[in-house]
Amino acid sequence: MDHLNEPAPAPVETAGSPVPALPRRVTVLSGGVGGARFLRGLLHRIAGTPGSPTEVTVVANTADDIWVHGLKVCPDLDTVMYTLGGGIDAVRGWGRTEETWNAKEELAAYGVEPTWFGLGDKDLATHLVRTQMLEAGYPLSAVTEALCRRWQPGVRLLPMTDDRVETHVLIDDPAEPSGRRAVHFQEYWVRLRAEVPARAVVPVGLEQSAPGPGVLEAITDTDLLVLPPSNPVVSVGTILGVPGIREAVSSTSAPVVGLSPIVAGSHVHGMAAQVLTAIGVEVSAAAVAEHYGARSTGGVLDAWLVDESDGAAVERVRAAGIACAAVPLMMTDLDATASMVDAALRLLSEERR
Ligand code: GDP
Ligand code: CA
Repeated sequence: MDHLNEPAPAPVETAGSPVPALPRRVTVLSGGVGGARFLRGLLHRIAGTPGSPTEVTVVANTADDIWVHGLKVCPDLDTVMYTLGGGIDAVRGWGRTEETWNAKEELAAYGVEPTWFGLGDKDLATHLVRTQMLEAGYPLSAVTEALCRRWQPGVRLLPMTDDRVETHVLIDDPAEPSGRRAVHFQEYWVRLRAEVPARAVVPVGLEQSAPGPGVLEAITDTDLLVLPPSNPVVSVGTILGVPGIREAVSSTSAPVVGLSPIVAGSHVHGMAAQVLTAIGVEVSAAAVAEHYGARSTGGVLDAWLVDESDGAAVERVRAAGIACAAVPLMMTDLDATASMVDAALRLLSEERR
């Protein structure tokens, strides 16, 4: 291999350089597990800065939502709410801690499908309250606010939309005349474990949806907008796909910084690789940045952090007009994740100088 033709790895940030203060208002566009982990680190950083006036608003993906057994389930909203509210099963990464599965077993005993969906007894209560409120006429945003009164997640949690949007995934099926079949995103992820190729991602209802109450304001009237290491297609991608949201991100006066969900060509946990491949984007930290694009050329990013193992990607990201640095991006614990927040602030302040 000719090393002379390879871009030199960017220097890794040193812990010693001063960290700029967190701005007063931070808005984060979040999926489920990746976004929630990042948010815990952000809140940890804020808690470690006594007297910090920082307020966090989260615009969460709702395109993973599914109706199961007559109940409205919102996996990403609940993952953020339970994680930040102390109710998450940390090992599983979703659902309630100390969960039991009696209702699920009883439903299976009746032979009622879907049997593959993880519906815990405690979790069920959340879905019952949500469904009851929706049927009484409350929009999802008001329901989420009500649920958060119990969980006190420490952020303002906003669904991206109050409208029904559900991501479907096209998979191969030789039994179909077209050779393809669409399954709900949850079926792709939970039943099929994302083990078969995703041929296309279809966010049903997205084009007809409208941003939920407060969403555009949270993007426009903020001091910092963050794209956390969430899935760039089925989490952040769907949020940006709500008509009006991408435009708000492109035009907000706040700086926009993203953190790569791809580390050394892998998605760490989840199935970002499968859905990036489905939309024709290379599975790499640089390609995801290019896919988001620079705000100076109509995209959504001013700055992008890649993992320290992806130092060679820095020049390519900069060539796309996006400020970039390589730092540790594995969310192994709260301090490691809080350091990612610091690195994002540093990168933006260096860029402004
Ligand atoms: P989901 O809705 O539960 O899939 O969660 P998100 O969309 O918020 O985030 C999922 C993505 O987070 C995964 O596809 C990974 O690419 C990314 N991810 C998970 N853990 C880590 C980590 O420790 N570091 C980084 N950089 N990315 C991670
Ligand atoms: Ca999700």
